[in-house]
Amino acid sequence: MSIKTPITVAYGDGIGPEIMRATLDILFAAGAQLELEEIEIGEKVYLRGISAGIEDSSWESLRRTKVFLKAPITTPQGSGYKSLNVTTRKTLGLYANVRPCVSYHPFVQSKHPVMDVVIVRENEEDLYAGIEHRQTSEVYQCLKLITRPGCEKIVRYAFEYARNNNRKKVTCFTKDNIMKMTDGLFHQVFDEIGAEYPELEKEHWIVDIGAAKLADTPEVFDVIVMPNLYGDILSDVAAQITGSVGLAGSANIGDHCAMFEAIHGSAPRRAGQNLANPSGLLLGGIMMLNHIGQGHIASKVHNAWLKTMEDGIHTYDIFKEGTSKEKVGTKEFAQAVIARLGEKPSQLKVADYPAESKKIHVEIKNRPRLAKETIGVDVFINWDGPSPNDLGDKLATCNTEALKLVVISNRGVKVYPDGMPETFCTDHWRCRFEQPEGKAVTHQDIIDLLSNVSKAGFDFIKTENLCTFEGKKGYSLAQGQ
Ligand code: NAD
Repeated sequence: MSIKTPITVAYGDGIGPEIMRATLDILFAAGAQLELEEIEIGEKVYLRGISAGIEDSSWESLRRTKVFLKAPITTPQGSGYKSLNVTTRKTLGLYANVRPCVSYHPFVQSKHPVMDVVIVRENEEDLYAGIEHRQTSEVYQCLKLITRPGCEKIVRYAFEYARNNNRKKVTCFTKDNIMKMTDGLFHQVFDEIGAEYPELEKEHWIVDIGAAKLADTPEVFDVIVMPNLYGDILSDVAAQITGSVGLAGSANIGDHCAMFEAIHGSAPRRAGQNLANPSGLLLGGIMMLNHIGQGHIASKVHNAWLKTMEDGIHTYDIFKEGTSKEKVGTKEFAQAVIARLGEKPSQLKVADYPAESKKIHVEIKNRPRLAKETIGVDVFINWDGPSPNDLGDKLATCNTEALKLVVISNRGVKVYPDGMPETFCTDHWRCRFEQPEGKAVTHQDIIDLLSNVSKAGFDFIKTENLCTFEGKKGYSLAQGQ
């Protein structure tokens, strides 16, 4: 008798319990060797006053089993609640989010008959760091954090995934024409690591035109790697154009743990009606079986599911007169898949997972500390005065020997000196002070400057040091500077 793999299971909210029951019924009917530890997450936990949506005891289960099959949850509206999905991914170090989006033409109607794209989304950084501040009456800020190790991990994962899965091409989407430092780093790391995979074709697209091409000609893409936010948005687009957002599963992979889910949410309006398509979660479950080394069961389930698609037995979201044969509910769909266990699709590509899973382990070994010098400071000021020149002239009186005002920008655009009267200004000013000869300054130099700024009656709301790394500037210029 095979040994059962312990996994943690959460039934979630909305359509979650129905699609989880359907998924587990299919997995067990196929002979999956699983021992379930059930945990409660989501709405009920949030409403008990636990802002993370998950109890401490549930973390213990996750850290013990290291494998999580999770149904979607509802995040209550309101600022008191943190997204459980983001927290789980980051707490467990699940840095790679793998989302295959496949067209099942001609059995599921899609405008794109040929499509087999895997989106590899960075899962821990970017705007999802969740560091947001209101800085003035008018201005709110969300920090976009992109790190070198974060880029190296996800980009290497994407190339290893492509190599392991006989993929031909890896594409990178960024917006590095605008965010030259953050997205620029992601692109640069893509080029560096890509050079180690000569057998794979590589390309980079600016995310806006890349997204347009993905929606228009998905057949030209294979594996696409991207930062968190673009990956979140574009994997929904990619899944939807295969026929339904309900058709895509997702694996969240880390060095220690992994979480498997559908890419869609809890669809509360469809809950409790036996309507929802369980395919996304089932495909997540298939990725889980592959991950835990039950590849033969993964193949059996996947092929039975493909055969069900071919036989036109469809839930409401993909049911189309003419293409589909029978409209079924969640339970009946699961029964149809179970009835086909052991069968293979006749036209769609037969699934064949290896008996042993090939785990991808990415190690970041080389993390050199670069020579860093501070040569200035941006002081952000909340100010409601009449004109940028007025602010500039007053602030210049705060100059010290070490730090002198060189430019003021508002929402990134230079407004002093020599601003344009047409530029719209808010109450949030970035005032750049630099050491006149580009020499290093000390913390005390910055404190002295801030002391003058404060004494002059200004409300400074934050500072950002202007640094060089090995002599290279580590900050952008103001637009127009
Ligand atoms: P959603 O994905 O729940 O639903 C979007 C649309 O897709 C709806 O029209 C829905 O009917 C349809 N749909 C989704 N899954 C389907 C399925 N399996 N079968 C058939 N139709 C399906 O997105 P939403 O409405 O924006 O969000 C609802 C809730 O889900 C929110 O509280 C959100 O925070 C949460 N959410 C959770 C996750 C997660 O747990 N991983 C992900 C996204 C959203």
